[in-house]
Amino acid sequence: MDDRMFRTAMGKFATGVTVIASEVDGQVHGMTANAFMSVSLDPKLILISIDKRAKMNEVIQKASKFTVNILSGDQKEMSMIFAGQIKENKHVEFETFEDLPVIENSLVSLACNVYQAHEAGDHTLYVGEVINLNVQDGEPLAFYEGKYMQMT
Ligand code: FAD
Ligand code: NAD
Repeated sequence: MDDRMFRTAMGKFATGVTVIASEVDGQVHGMTANAFMSVSLDPKLILISIDKRAKMNEVIQKASKFTVNILSGDQKEMSMIFAGQIKENKHVEFETFEDLPVIENSLVSLACNVYQAHEAGDHTLYVGEVINLNVQDGEPLAFYEGKYMQMT
């Protein structure tokens, strides 16, 4: 099985879109991710999967904490910026929540401490303990077959 076939198959699983964010030495870094899931209620745990080559990986290792920002349908540009799909540098203003950077107007922002990290092939799985969260009403941004979609 080649990589393309695997990605085509995985792309049939419709997901939301998040931006993971954290800060080291006053530098905020964000990265688009759809490999996100809820894990446990007691304690409150979530999971993200980060490519070992991604800059985000070393940022999370250094900071030991991060936020997960679930994007709304009108935040496609945010996803494109933090996936490197928009080439020119765009200035993004982050808000601060629990001393961590969050993307304003996200549907949900989760502030997490790294609870566990697991090596898994070419990715690292970070289990985050949710220490606080913000929720807003709105429609989500979706990702399906490699394309962005809106629910309405
Ligand atoms: P870079 O590639 O250096 O940064 C990413 C982009 O964000 C750059 O364009 C950079 O300029 C911009 N940026 C970062 N910080 C700031 C800031 N403070 N202000 C303004 N711009 C900033 N990869 C995974 O490992 N796991 C996933 O679950 C995953 N899901 C994805 C889902 C989707 C829908 C898409 C489109 C991509 C996904 N990716 C995922 C791929 C990942 O988003 C890209 O490979 C990304 O470029 C890796 O980022 P990086 O940390 O290496 O940093
Ligand atoms: P795509 O067809 O590459 O992605 C479809 C699905 O395949 C994704 O939703 C994801 O589930 C899976 N996938 C893709 N790349 C992966 C990887 N390196 N490791 C594990 N699973 C992966 O869609 P696209 O629009 O071409 O994606 C844009 C870029 O973002 C590509 O470079 C892609 O590799 C990357 N991406 C990475 C991940 C990830 O690392 N988990 C997830 C989504 C997209």
